[in-house]
Amino acid sequence: MAYVNENYLKLPGNYLFSEIARRVAKFQSENPDAKIIRLGIGDVTRPLPKVCIDAMTGAVAEMGKVETFRGYGPEQGYDFLREKIAEYNYKKRGIEIDADEIFVSDGSKCDCGNIQEIFSADAKVAVADPVYPVYLDTNVMAGRTGDLNSDGRFSGVTYLPCNAENDFMPLPPENKIDLIYLCSPNNPTGTTLTKDALKNWIDYARKNDSIILYDAAYAAYISDENIPRSIFEIDGAKDFAIEFRSFSKTAGFTGTRCGYVVIPKNLTGFTKSGEKVPLKNLWLRRQTTKFNGTAYIIQRGAAAIYSEEGQAQVKELIDYYMTNAKIIREGLSALGLKVYGGENAPYIWLETPGKMKSWDFFDKLLRESNVVGTPGAGFGPCGENYFRLTAFGSRENTIAAMEKFKNLKR
Ligand SMILES: *Cc1c(COP(=O)(O)O)cnc(C)c1O
Repeated sequence: MAYVNENYLKLPGNYLFSEIARRVAKFQSENPDAKIIRLGIGDVTRPLPKVCIDAMTGAVAEMGKVETFRGYGPEQGYDFLREKIAEYNYKKRGIEIDADEIFVSDGSKCDCGNIQEIFSADAKVAVADPVYPVYLDTNVMAGRTGDLNSDGRFSGVTYLPCNAENDFMPLPPENKIDLIYLCSPNNPTGTTLTKDALKNWIDYARKNDSIILYDAAYAAYISDENIPRSIFEIDGAKDFAIEFRSFSKTAGFTGTRCGYVVIPKNLTGFTKSGEKVPLKNLWLRRQTTKFNGTAYIIQRGAAAIYSEEGQAQVKELIDYYMTNAKIIREGLSALGLKVYGGENAPYIWLETPGKMKSWDFFDKLLRESNVVGTPGAGFGPCGENYFRLTAFGSRENTIAAMEKFKNLKR
């Protein structure tokens, strides 16, 4: 009998984006003349930087000649890319990370989702609430979370509430946790973790022998010099943290696919008998068995952002979205709405007026302003009474949406 992995059956259906699509379609059919503006998308919309296109075009030509053709590449990624990442994202910022501590992949979602495989099936997990769903769902599939309670939470998971009172920065819990997922700049709240907040987490990890899984997919959106772009900017972090980065939001690679994981060489987990095991070795074993590398053409495209010209083009891309973020922040603030995020992240997190339910606000905003966003409750129980808007739209639509927000009835 082919028994199924019943842990999959514990996953609540992900109704968030299908429910949004259903409500928008219904409204549009009842109001065919309404011009709906979507600020709910979590995907980039600007084209790839020219340096990436040129590098990939060159790589395609190489693949067409016998002298320069490439077959399987190294599972960890080509040295030309790993060395550039180590130099630009770490050494230039005073962080010692070697190219052989970097594992190139086809994106961060896979890495954030797969990393749990190298840890024990009974590891205790903590996630922020609200949260990017990948961390939790992959642990549900692995059988690490217990059952779903009626309050929408899994019995075996520690949820770290993020709200206005704690500036949306999850705090270390009282109990002992083995694996902690942190995301900064955060999706969905658009907020960032400060040096002190991260130091607090490193202290917790040291006391409890925990590992911090740090998702920095939006690191390139940080402009404030006091906000860490990498967890490795914090003393001691190399003994307790794995970092995830991606070219998706940095350089428009959501459809092109390239990311990487940083696992410091001294970072260890433990066997049940108390022996230390380097996590880097386990991840290398996992990747060489289950992954065959990111396409050469794509890695050439990614490496192209690490030149003066490439950095300028990426900055232009990010400035475009961050100008949208500013327009949204200022537009909503002028209407008296309470907004968070949007300063070092492309997400704006707003408190619903009168703390109305986030799905009720979704309907009201669609009806009165014809603007689509994402209800906070879709990211976890603590997202209730909040709403996410993204800066990934076009400038024109962002400006138009702020005009239409003025139609919102008080
Ligand atoms: C977009 C995003 C990623 C990156 O995903 P890719 O698979 O690299 O495209 C990772 N984490 C968060 C929180 C994200 O929003």
